[in-house]
Amino acid sequence: MSPGTASGTSDSRSSESCSGSNTRNGTVPARRTAHNGDSKERKEGEEEEEKSPDEGFMGMTPLLQAHHAMEKMEEFVHKMWEGRWRVIPHDVLPDWLKDNDFLLHGHRPPMPSFRACFKSIFRIHTETGNIWTHLLGCLFFLCLGIFYMFRPNMSFVAPFQEKIVIGMFFLGAILCLSFSWLFHTVYCHSEGVSRVFSKLDYSGIAFLIMGSFVPWLYYSFYCSPQPCFIYLIVVCVLGLAAITVSQCDFFATPQYRGVRAGVFVGLGLSGVVPSLHFVITEGFLRATTMGQMGWLFLMAVLYITGACLYAARIPERFFPGKCDIWFHSHQLFHILVVAGAFVHFHGVSNLQEFRYTAGGGCAEDGAL
Ligand SMILES: [Zn+2]
Repeated sequence: MSPGTASGTSDSRSSESCSGSNTRNGTVPARRTAHNGDSKERKEGEEEEEKSPDEGFMGMTPLLQAHHAMEKMEEFVHKMWEGRWRVIPHDVLPDWLKDNDFLLHGHRPPMPSFRACFKSIFRIHTETGNIWTHLLGCLFFLCLGIFYMFRPNMSFVAPFQEKIVIGMFFLGAILCLSFSWLFHTVYCHSEGVSRVFSKLDYSGIAFLIMGSFVPWLYYSFYCSPQPCFIYLIVVCVLGLAAITVSQCDFFATPQYRGVRAGVFVGLGLSGVVPSLHFVITEGFLRATTMGQMGWLFLMAVLYITGACLYAARIPERFFPGKCDIWFHSHQLFHILVVAGAFVHFHGVSNLQEFRYTAGGGCAEDGAL
């Protein structure tokens, strides 16, 4: 947008200088008088003047000049749409695109065209890594989800019910990752579009967390449906509260980076209560072996590490300008989210296998 504005300004300046010189030469008033048709002599003089080769250009009406400037502007915008733009430094970005001042260069300029935004996926800039980490992650979970849903029913105790429960995890992961890569793609479109997609992006994180709880609670409290149901309702209420907060405009601002990380880490950490309940009921050994608590713990470590890097903007904080394109905090956070989601899936599929091996029966004292 800034190069566009510059081009528009230079056109209007040249138009102004043209009118200015016409006015100073007295050509425009003479023409105006001639058009009024007050004097034959003036008309004759005017006709002679119009024959002059310069007059065709210099005598351009303001309307024609404006049309000419518009054509130039359209041509420039078209070039922008065709992807002929250059990355720009952080300090010339408009305020709504200024998010991380440790990334000094390599930013996309504002591009008010969805086509240009989507074409920019294949260019190198500060968002390239953010887009591809979650675009590839989204395709990975989509394929894994389809594969899982088509697994033979004989591998499950209650195939229909279990596929819906595990399907909730895949739905949460796919929504989260697709909202994320879409947001990073169209982030530079305009302030309004960026605002709408950032709200979807934050809501997607809440969907991933809620979707992750469903199969874990289902298998971990398989034989205790009542606490399972209560924990499910609590996480849904907390998730909806996080989605509601993320609809506020202030939530997306750079000053609230820490608050955002805190809200989602808090939502994830609400799993501490059912985890402790599970460990107390099953005992530490059963919880860490059959209960897959080790994988759950690793998932929490990956998510929390990602959130801390994101909130503290590490490593670019220590190397401003050195991580503009690769390995900045947001990219690392994205990779850790995909890794955390996969670790969770691994733990849940182990729980599912345990349930299949154990059959549908329940011991008298135990949640699993
Ligand atoms: Zn992101």
